[in-house]
Amino acid sequence: MTVENRTIYMDNSATTPVRKEVVEEMLPYLTENFGNPSSIYDPGKVSKRAIEEARKKVASAIGAEENEIYFTSGGTESDNWAVKGAAFANTNKGKHIITSSIEHHAVLYACKWLEGQGFEITYLPVDKYGMVSPEDLRNAIRDDTILISLMLANNEIGTIQPVEEIGRIAREKRICFHTDAVQAIGHVPIDVKKMNIDLLSLSGHKFGGPKGCGALYIRKGTKIESLLHGGAQERKRRAGTENVPAIVGLGKAIELAIDELEEENKTLLEMRERLIEGLLKIPKTHLNGHPTERLANNVNVTFEYIEGESLLLLLNAKGIFASTGSACNSTSLEPSHVLTACGVPHEIVHGSLRLSLGRMNTPEEVERVLEVLPEIVQKLRNMSPLTPREYRTL
Ligand SMILES: *Cc1c(COP(=O)(O)O)cnc(C)c1O
Repeated sequence: MTVENRTIYMDNSATTPVRKEVVEEMLPYLTENFGNPSSIYDPGKVSKRAIEEARKKVASAIGAEENEIYFTSGGTESDNWAVKGAAFANTNKGKHIITSSIEHHAVLYACKWLEGQGFEITYLPVDKYGMVSPEDLRNAIRDDTILISLMLANNEIGTIQPVEEIGRIAREKRICFHTDAVQAIGHVPIDVKKMNIDLLSLSGHKFGGPKGCGALYIRKGTKIESLLHGGAQERKRRAGTENVPAIVGLGKAIELAIDELEEENKTLLEMRERLIEGLLKIPKTHLNGHPTERLANNVNVTFEYIEGESLLLLLNAKGIFASTGSACNSTSLEPSHVLTACGVPHEIVHGSLRLSLGRMNTPEEVERVLEVLPEIVQKLRNMSPLTPREYRTL
């Protein structure tokens, strides 16, 4: 089959396919090894042991201890647990939280909800590249600040924050530091100790694991309330029968992702740079996010005089799957809060396209996208009454 009649998936920041090796490890835990990990008989112990193996792998991937890893239902739960749990555990110290204006909605809306519970939130601005300034963070810290939540890498524009510096500030001021590392796992080497991270969220389906399974790293000694009460699972901090097959899958996926990180990044970086170079040749096209401090798999551009939704549909018709922003926004016409925070002008913000690469993508696919996209952009520009005459071909 030629590349022309194959579909091209370039939305790996929305989700990734579960890797074959991962499926293989998961399968026995969906069938013969079905024991409840809380049961004391042998089949229960088999499940229990599998969970602890996975926990070891997650811990080792981020430089944590095994007993600092808690399995959850995904990135959204981990973010909610970190933000709300740390907030309510520290009310004796204050009710002020610092986050950024470009966080994932799982953090932003958790913070918004906390505002209704009497907490006060500072949303740090970002520069045009989506970068938070450590100086702004220092200035925002108050005596009653109890939590700093800043993402490691942004899911829309790929910008990587200076997390090590932020962690240093948080530790120096003795403030709990949470980072949403969902997009960073497998792309940015992480050492929670070196980076002074107290809480870290990750999610399996963003790096070749199954959906509906994630983890929260809780540094030993970090004050945090539980959100789910019930059974004694996860050392009595997160109740509910464990999703054993998914946890096993997440463990295998993170192990593979870390083993392959360096090699993978090299390949992705080459494709990313080729894509950016090719796309910027289209007139009136702008790169969003940081030129260098960005995930190796992220490309985000804005085409002037274009409606991103139409662009996605025409790409879809060609068998190319991409995104205009985060997946949660793909059915709404709200402009991306991330691009808006970066100062992308209101008139052009809707013309944005995110191509997020993964291990399945090839340089041939990149070339195919670069062949198809300029034609589609031109077609849409020809149709738009907003396009100045010099950018039309009719
Ligand atoms: C995908 C994502 C989440 C949510 O994770 P789910 O497992 O899909 O709930 C949170 N934060 C970031 C940065 C993400 O990319």
